[in-house]
Amino acid sequence: MSGIRVAVAGAKGRMGQEVVKMVLNDPELSLVAAIDSKLDGVPVSEVLGLETPVLFYRSLSYALDATKPDVLVDFTVPDTVKANAEVAIDAGVRPVIGTTGLQLEEIEQLDSRCRQQGIGGVVAPNFAIGAVLMMHFAALAAKYFPHVEIIEYHHDQKLDAPSGTSLKTAELISMARKEMRQGHPQEEERLDGVRGGYYHGFRIHSVRLPGLVAHQEVLFGAPGQTLSIRHDSMNRESFMPGVNLAIKKVMTLQGMVYGLEHLLELD
Ligand code: NAP
Repeated sequence: MSGIRVAVAGAKGRMGQEVVKMVLNDPELSLVAAIDSKLDGVPVSEVLGLETPVLFYRSLSYALDATKPDVLVDFTVPDTVKANAEVAIDAGVRPVIGTTGLQLEEIEQLDSRCRQQGIGGVVAPNFAIGAVLMMHFAALAAKYFPHVEIIEYHHDQKLDAPSGTSLKTAELISMARKEMRQGHPQEEERLDGVRGGYYHGFRIHSVRLPGLVAHQEVLFGAPGQTLSIRHDSMNRESFMPGVNLAIKKVMTLQGMVYGLEHLLELD
């Protein structure tokens, strides 16, 4: 086996399966282990119908010891992601984390742990490169178009609103423009919530419908013109170029990098 050795935690999940496929299709990467909380010793080929001799492991520490990966990609659940990252770092394996729910102080703790071990790690709440660019362009536009609203659209099984990506976009916009309350000063909501959530003077609107995946539009308005910046994730494949980039870049990093934007050349 050649290239970067990759283990995938949550390999049977929706995102994990995409990661397994992406790793198998890249000659610079080698899949060495698939970790799942219920499967042990079962071939990945049997469960996922993919051509590979790699096995599923229930114990992460056993899998890392047996297969010696360079990188652990984690798309599991919020309850388990921090412990998984700690096990990986202590074994000298670089974590690339897509699972959401890590608090800022937990990321800082993982950063110290990585530095002690002399390795890198990546945590990215959104691995879609297009979404990262959308946020970057929105922050740039906000300098010249301070009147803005964000509309985010997701499938109706999503539990949280607004989305993490829309909040991150709002944070970047509010850093790029002075706080100002938009709309008419005497504006009145005749239906609760109809103007959306209020964030530092502007509004975020969350749409939830079956048929949608993950989409966001940042809409700017100025006298005589509007500007829309929109990103659409049609399926989970959209996250894979970002995960692939993180696996390759993490090999040269020291400490935990938070956000895919720090791995892209945006200036
Ligand atoms: P999912 O389909 O529910 O997959 C999660 C998988 O993790 C399940 O197969 C589950 O298996 C497994 N799992 C749970 N505990 C585990 C453990 N201790 N060890 C190993 N595997 C374990 O969820 P998903 O849609 O793939 O999403 C996974 C995470 O990624 C979520 O936090 C989601 O918000 C996030 N996400 C991030 C991005 C991004 O760009 N960063 C994009 C999409 C989704 P069992 O059910 O058998 O326990």
